[in-house]
Amino acid sequence: MKISKEQAKYRISFLRDEINKHNRRYYIDNQPSVSDFEFDLLMQELQTLELKFPQFSCEESPTKKVGSDLALKSERGTSEKSVTTDAYSAGDGISAPNMFRQIPHKYPMLSLSNTYDKEELISFNERVERALGVKTEYVCELKIDGTAISLSYHNFRLVSAVTRGDGSVGDDVTENVKKIGAVPTEIPITSPIGNFEIRGEIFMPWDSFDLINQRREANEEQLFANPRNAAAGSLKLLDSSEVASRGLKLILYNIITDVPFFQSHLASLQWAKECGFPVSEHTSVCSSITDVIEYLDKWNLKRKELNYPTDGVVIKVNNIDYQNALGITSKFPRWATAFKFKAEQALTRLISIDYQVGRTGAITPVANLEPVTLSGSMVKRASLHNSEQMKILDIHIGDMVYVEKGGEIIPKITGVEISQRDNSAKIPQFPENCPDCGTLLIKDSEEAKHFCPNIEQCPTQIKGRFLHFSGRKAMNILIGEATIDQMYRMGYLKRLPDLYKIDKEQLLKLDGWKERSAVRFAQSLQDSLKTPFYKVLYALGIRYVGETTAKILVNHFGNIDNIRRASKDELLSVGDIGDIVADSILNYFSKDVNINVIEEFREIGVKMSNESIQNLVSEKLKGMSFVVSGNFSVSREELKHLIEINSGKNISSVSSITTYLISGDRMGPSKLEKAKKLGVTIITEEEFFKLIK
Ligand code: NAD
Repeated sequence: MKISKEQAKYRISFLRDEINKHNRRYYIDNQPSVSDFEFDLLMQELQTLELKFPQFSCEESPTKKVGSDLALKSERGTSEKSVTTDAYSAGDGISAPNMFRQIPHKYPMLSLSNTYDKEELISFNERVERALGVKTEYVCELKIDGTAISLSYHNFRLVSAVTRGDGSVGDDVTENVKKIGAVPTEIPITSPIGNFEIRGEIFMPWDSFDLINQRREANEEQLFANPRNAAAGSLKLLDSSEVASRGLKLILYNIITDVPFFQSHLASLQWAKECGFPVSEHTSVCSSITDVIEYLDKWNLKRKELNYPTDGVVIKVNNIDYQNALGITSKFPRWATAFKFKAEQALTRLISIDYQVGRTGAITPVANLEPVTLSGSMVKRASLHNSEQMKILDIHIGDMVYVEKGGEIIPKITGVEISQRDNSAKIPQFPENCPDCGTLLIKDSEEAKHFCPNIEQCPTQIKGRFLHFSGRKAMNILIGEATIDQMYRMGYLKRLPDLYKIDKEQLLKLDGWKERSAVRFAQSLQDSLKTPFYKVLYALGIRYVGETTAKILVNHFGNIDNIRRASKDELLSVGDIGDIVADSILNYFSKDVNINVIEEFREIGVKMSNESIQNLVSEKLKGMSFVVSGNFSVSREELKHLIEINSGKNISSVSSITTYLISGDRMGPSKLEKAKKLGVTIITEEEFFKLIK
């Protein structure tokens, strides 16, 4: 398809936003909303467009960077704090998300190039052998679907266990890793090497995963989408003893020494095994790419017998000198690649399609299917995403369709078996009007979604807003879907602040409500006034402002007025906010109805600013703005907090209005250069402490 420069520019920006959003959901929130295959397709499209339109290529593109599990990133190579939603839910009441010290990696922790296609694997082999000028041997390992970890040993002792983070800095989770109990804290001093890094995968076996999700279901907690997310979330728990109860396991697959020591990858794994490290028993040396393909075919079937999740096979050049000769890119080693297995599929009949209205008015077609078993569970409904997707699939009612489980709990339809279509199959008609309120639907060209524009009066949208607002991750008000539905029908709920205006008499008119339930509800409303501002911002339901984006906005702007006043450029200057999110925020604050809701909430006593800013300890930094860059003796988050409570302002990038750049170890060279160019005063950590002394 031909695409103009302007179209490419917009599509690239859209894809980057989408990919960053999925990266956040996957690595930080541990709640992906698309399958890995779909994610990889988006990445591939972006890569192709960037190659075709190099003028829009940039170093910050997700095609050039390792997906980061660090929550708030300010610049490449340095990052701020990190926490997973799981850590939040596990430690209710924790408001400051800076839990783990961050440690720079001595050697970058990279991702792997990947393919789902054997032809591409053959091309990989050709590239490798052409570059080396010799035939090469490969080591094939199972690609375990967990989260990467790097263990550092110094003088034969374990000194740290660090997550991949953004590839250059990771979270220090040493205590948690020790609780897993699988790695030696010391290795025999008779070993020929005592200083090294050993890397591997922390994962959750299927049985532990099922058990944890059963427990979470019983506690009405959000379920983990898959064992990978469960492992990553569990590793970032604050309470190490809780980590011990999660049944995590570890397999190590890569050893890095300062001085070359091993001749082959396989020899290094054998040494690791002798030292007591858990290594895989299914690793195999393949003397040709044909043997590699045989290994893939065998394990695509056999992996179903394993008690842990695998999503492919990693193919590595065995000879270490060859590995060094091939080198690395900013994202992958050139001497390894991953062959990924496609998700399991099932074939079943499409009976009908429902068109569901979401909280934001988006219409999602949901397929009703003949029940079928998929990855161990019964599937009856599947998502079809939008009308475009239905057209691409050329789906007909009555078709036999392929269903796959992605990251979501609800599976999706990925294909149609046209050969089994009969004459009775009917083309589905996407509705023109909202199935709920009858308003004519509009279509969002960028997202290919239909929307009901009747935001103010569409019953499903109103109820959806209340459900989102009162949810556990938002204001945590004790009220469920059925009660919201009844309150709405009784005319109590129209605009969000109405929830705080329902009186006792009205409550006692609800089915089954007695004095006690009314008191409990009133108490939970009262408690909700203590909800921290970032959760309030998330609860407002601004499109694209999920929990993580809300935290980012609150950390940057501090209060609702600053967010409201922010220009598009200011919003875009905040790390991780792209065009689409910025437009959505501007759109939200441009509407009087929303401003009135905010003002009413302010009067009710709902928090509209960051707690830390309210607890000022001095005005010593009033009128000054700071950029904090690099690593310090305290966390960057602590420094920023000190700036705020002394009335200073944190900004993310150096400009002519920056008062001070506080520089730490390994600070971003671009910031330093810009500060020097603009004449911004650069101070050390000690000098900063003198300012607030
Ligand atoms: P990856 O998971 O494709 O491959 C690299 C990782 O593989 C390593 O970091 C390591 O943790 C792991 N690994 C497992 N076994 C290994 C072995 N034997 N040797 C070496 N490494 C091994 O790469 P990634 O950068 O972590 O993630 C990118 C992938 O994650 C994407 O291709 C996509 O499939 C998925 N993803 C999905 C979503 C989503 O929303 N569904 C979002 C972001 C990323």
